Amino acid sequence: MSTYSSFIPEIDLKSHFDSYYAKASLLSMFDNPVIKGFIAEMDDHIAGYARLFLNRDENRLYVPSMYFLPEFQGHGMGRQLLEAAEKYAAEKSLDELWIGVMVKNRQALDFYRKVGFLFVREEPFAMGNTTVSHLIGYKKLGRSTFFNQKSHVPFNEGRNLPRLCLELLSEQKKTWQNLREGYELLKEVRERDLSCKGFSVRLQYNPGRMKSSTAVVDEINERERKCFLCLDHLPEGQKGIFYRKDYLILCNPMPVFFSHFTISHLDHRLQAIAEHIDTFLQLIVDFGSGWIVLYNGPKCGASAPNHLHFQAAPSGRTPIEKEIREEKRLTLITKVHGVLIYRVKDLGREVIILEGGDRMAMGSVLNGYLDALKKVLILNEEPMINIAGFHEKRKWRLAIFPRRKHRPDVFFKEGDARVVVSPGVIDMGGLIITPVKKDFERLDGAAVKGIYKEVSLERKIVEKTIEVMR
Ligand SMILES: [Zn+2]
Repeated sequence: MSTYSSFIPEIDLKSHFDSYYAKASLLSMFDNPVIKGFIAEMDDHIAGYARLFLNRDENRLYVPSMYFLPEFQGHGMGRQLLEAAEKYAAEKSLDELWIGVMVKNRQALDFYRKVGFLFVREEPFAMGNTTVSHLIGYKKLGRSTFFNQKSHVPFNEGRNLPRLCLELLSEQKKTWQNLREGYELLKEVRERDLSCKGFSVRLQYNPGRMKSSTAVVDEINERERKCFLCLDHLPEGQKGIFYRKDYLILCNPMPVFFSHFTISHLDHRLQAIAEHIDTFLQLIVDFGSGWIVLYNGPKCGASAPNHLHFQAAPSGRTPIEKEIREEKRLTLITKVHGVLIYRVKDLGREVIILEGGDRMAMGSVLNGYLDALKKVLILNEEPMINIAGFHEKRKWRLAIFPRRKHRPDVFFKEGDARVVVSPGVIDMGGLIITPVKKDFERLDGAAVKGIYKEVSLERKIVEKTIEVMR
């Protein structure tokens, strides 16, 4: 049984382990985004641990150290730790798992070979004052084949992301029938402009969106089990662009826009923006001017609330894009780290604009605004928000819609009284999707105003949130 194997010597792990016997300290060893670890426990004692190092450039997971205290050896925990590491590597869509084992440790080498490792070279390894010879080996991981199947082409720095996306779309329309059908349906949609006294909205009658607009909690649970954004559940024929190591850009098979993309994280992880603001801002730059990048909070419009994703489309289709450029509507509230914070007037719903050219500052101000909302609303979780992001003239512009609720009461009415409007970021942006024809025909300016008023955070509360930012 393997008791100790190391690949990258950093410290004398044995003494390190002994001195860091407390779990908290052990966990702090893993407090690094590329370092991950698993701790094996038995009868409330820490028995051992595996420390993993993720190398995205090589797309490999290294196991620099795996260690067990002698009294806990031989209970099959090494296998469990290794399985945990493999599972983690699979979630990260890594190609290979690498490990180093002492040449003398025959038993361990047998074990690793049995579970699929191939040892390819021998290296000296310094441990304290002695040098021990190690065999370095790796195991190919299953997920990579799958990932390769799903990845159409990678996006790298310097490539034109919109062009790649449009190429993907035209390619996917040829090879993926559902997508072709989705876009055929989009040709049938009808649109109608409504004046709401002070602002305008466009209604889109889009029957193809019925399913996503009316998803109920049970369905969401069902979808959670068969998450449609997880790599292993992606429909046959769907392929994406491998984007900046952690994301896949996919064509949305239920489009609202004539080019509509979903940027989905490779891992199944909760929809939440705070830790991914940098990706959001990067996406906005990579798509560049002429595009819009969208975020829906998990409880106010995200179609997959348990799988982190953004959307992107060519800009110009949502009425708000013009309205937030009209100077008479903008009230400059304050400037934080060079980022201008505006409130937009007379839109029937609350809209906050953040504008700035420095990415770090934009990220920190957006984060600060989320914290302000949490503080005012006394929340631990992410406040309900939708965000639409643009980049032009070297500046980011984020339109934030703070929300009070997801769906208006009329959505839950029965029979004729029911109005199927389930506002997400696109609807808040003024392009209101109505999957039911009757709703498309009967909604008027007053009804839309009522819906916006109901789902948007109240003006007084929004004013407080900005007060906190000053
Ligand atoms: Zn998922």
